[in-house]
Amino acid sequence: MATDKPFNPFRMAQAQFDKIADLIGLDEGSRKLLREPLREYHFIVPIRMDDGSIEVFRGFRVQHNDARGPCKGGIRFHPQETIDTVRALAMWMTWKCAVADIPLGGGKGGVICDPHNLSSREQEAICRGYIRRISRDIGPVADIPAPDVMTSSQHMLWMLDEYEAVHDGHFPGLITGKPVGLGGSKGRTQATGYGVVYTLREALRELDIRPENTRASVQGFGNVAQYAIELYAQMGGRTVCVSSWDQEDQTSYSFAKWDGVDLQELRGITDRFGGIDKQKARDLGYELLPGEAWLEQEVEILLPAALENQITEDNVTRLKPCVKVIAEGANGPTTPEADTVISERGIFLIPDFLANAGGVTCSYFEQVQSNMNYYWEMDEVLGKLDMKMTSAFMAVSNLARRNKLYMRDAAYVVAIDRVATACRDRGWV
Ligand code: NAD
Repeated sequence: MATDKPFNPFRMAQAQFDKIADLIGLDEGSRKLLREPLREYHFIVPIRMDDGSIEVFRGFRVQHNDARGPCKGGIRFHPQETIDTVRALAMWMTWKCAVADIPLGGGKGGVICDPHNLSSREQEAICRGYIRRISRDIGPVADIPAPDVMTSSQHMLWMLDEYEAVHDGHFPGLITGKPVGLGGSKGRTQATGYGVVYTLREALRELDIRPENTRASVQGFGNVAQYAIELYAQMGGRTVCVSSWDQEDQTSYSFAKWDGVDLQELRGITDRFGGIDKQKARDLGYELLPGEAWLEQEVEILLPAALENQITEDNVTRLKPCVKVIAEGANGPTTPEADTVISERGIFLIPDFLANAGGVTCSYFEQVQSNMNYYWEMDEVLGKLDMKMTSAFMAVSNLARRNKLYMRDAAYVVAIDRVATACRDRGWV
């Protein structure tokens, strides 16, 4: 049945929360508190464009909950950014930090803009303007931004530099995702994608499936997707399909190669936004398929790692019977209607805020290192990351097995319980 309701990610995030609040019998006060953001900021950022004209860009920062520690969350640059997307992502960050058991709360930010059409100087001006608007309301002990879709370590460094100019000092703990050598952590680039695969490894272990006997299909070919494919390949897995957004045609395509995609080769024909050059891909023997084809491949593992709202009630029936695990690299890729079908089919789902918690966990490590002014080697970072992700996965999957819960529900129970307890212990409710 086709859906014509406009998709609202915040309503979806609240619906997921309400369901778990009912399940665990959460008290009324905690419900009222946790289903809304504590604070949100709306502002405009005026920029002088390269042609001399003035343009204004709308920016947001949402702080959903900080009972367990300062808010933490990325800043996205996206032409379709909305306040409800930012609210939903901030709420998911609260649950993500709680499920990963790191002492941080949930925040998120965004600017409505399209970096494809902005020069580097214009993007720098947006970063600096954004920070000037919000600099009194964020900080190392209040709210710590990070990169997200279409923002990078360079954007973070411009933001840090602006914050340090406003506050007259060095505050490397303000922001994470900084370049290595300028306060960044080794392993941050790999962290989200690798984290997805640490949880995938544990899920396969639980299902008694050897990674080398599996194939995967991936939506997206950006930061998360590329490093997930890298580590999955090191475990012996074969990625047979990836998809990406094509800026020229304003649509997405899937790229299939049954022997397995060659990561280095594909990276070589991919732009900095994760868009794969379709002509070069064809020349290299990739089959060019429609955008949604990634989810109807004969694979054991699906890895959505692009955007929210991708597996829906309209396309979930196209998943092949051989699909055993869905590891959600992206935030919010599956709608609640599709979730019901996935749960009924007995597919092992690793929910977004558990699967992709590697990024925020490594960001937490970055903050710890920035505050100590002592930086760890790659092995140390990845070793600690694996340990954190594995224990987060175990806490959720043990509860899921014990209480016969769907993995997403179990992850919510763990997270909401931890946040609600912190709010109660602080005397907020
Ligand atoms: P990115 O910008 O590096 O890559 C996004 C990829 O998705 C690109 O390859 C792009 O072409 C592709 N894409 C965009 N629209 C698409 C569509 N309609 N169909 C198919 N492909 C499409 O972004 P990223 O950092 O890899 O983040 C991806 C997702 O993971 C987002 O949901 C983000 O919120 C989430 N996430 C990222 C991190 C992180 O550390 N980077 C951490 C947690 C969660």
